[in-house]
Amino acid sequence: MKTITCDVCKHTVQQPTVGRSYFYFAHRDICESCKEDLDSLLRPIIRAKQPFNYEWFNRLLQDSIENAISKGRFEAPGDN
Ligand SMILES: [Zn+2]
Repeated sequence: MKTITCDVCKHTVQQPTVGRSYFYFAHRDICESCKEDLDSLLRPIIRAKQPFNYEWFNRLLQDSIENAISKGRFEAPGDN
């Protein structure tokens, strides 16, 4: 059976479907639960960014994911 392991929380996703049960961002596998945490983390930052810049967004996404991988979960900056 095909499985993937979330790069952030190390949770194993059975029979993964990209875009539904897991997501692929910045060359990383992200489970649905971590994707929701990522969304809630980034949403206020993205809303505050005017004008929106795709290059900036990609860097933010990548930095957020790499940071979450080192911590084992997504958390807001300065939120311990
Ligand atoms: Zn995860």
